[in-house]
Amino acid sequence: MALDSIVAARLELLDPNPDPTELFTKFNKDYFQGKLSNVTIKWSSRMTSTVGICTFKGKREGCVIKLSVPLLALRSRKDLIETLLHEMIHAYLFIVDGDKEREEHGPKFLSHMNRINRRSGCNITIYHDFDSEMEYFQSHVWRCDGPCRNQLPDQGIIRKSINRPPGPSDSWWDNHKKSCKGKFKKISEPTWNPATLTSPPSSEVKGSRRASLQKASART
Ligand SMILES: [Zn+2]
Ligand SMILES: [Zn+2]
Repeated sequence: MALDSIVAARLELLDPNPDPTELFTKFNKDYFQGKLSNVTIKWSSRMTSTVGICTFKGKREGCVIKLSVPLLALRSRKDLIETLLHEMIHAYLFIVDGDKEREEHGPKFLSHMNRINRRSGCNITIYHDFDSEMEYFQSHVWRCDGPCRNQLPDQGIIRKSINRPPGPSDSWWDNHKKSCKGKFKKISEPTWNPATLTSPPSSEVKGSRRASLQKASART
């Protein structure tokens, strides 16, 4: 992962629970030219089927972005940031573009998503629930117990989307063996069980979500 990524693995330890309102202020400046002046960020403890939602209240009232406590409390800093940025794109389209179109993740959304992903090192997706997202971006995390855990950029932390421990099939494995000799221990894995919170999407819905994901990645 790039050195300047705002979701670098080492930040999970340095800053595990950032304040979403502070993040909003920073991201507004960095990625939206400070144009999101009328947005309120709230936590919701009752929202369990969607991880984030952005509601347009009107020209004067602006937008409210709600983030789900049940779905985000156990997730990584990276998940919080990517969820917030996703909702901020919706807010931008409402407020700045005056976009009332109901096609939520159309071409305008995708172009902002791809632009911010390129600049930030994020993996913002078109999903509003981890159920659909997790098979693509599930987070398994290992950390080395050798000397490299004290070195930047990643302090011995390895993230993978699949549950395959670091080993000879990783391109960096031999170099690490020569320079560090530490062993990797699993420090985190997805803890959220979708079955306990929402019913899985029907195959039809899933199919169409896949299709839009493919479209989305074709644009990057
Ligand atoms: Zn969305
Ligand atoms: Zn090491």
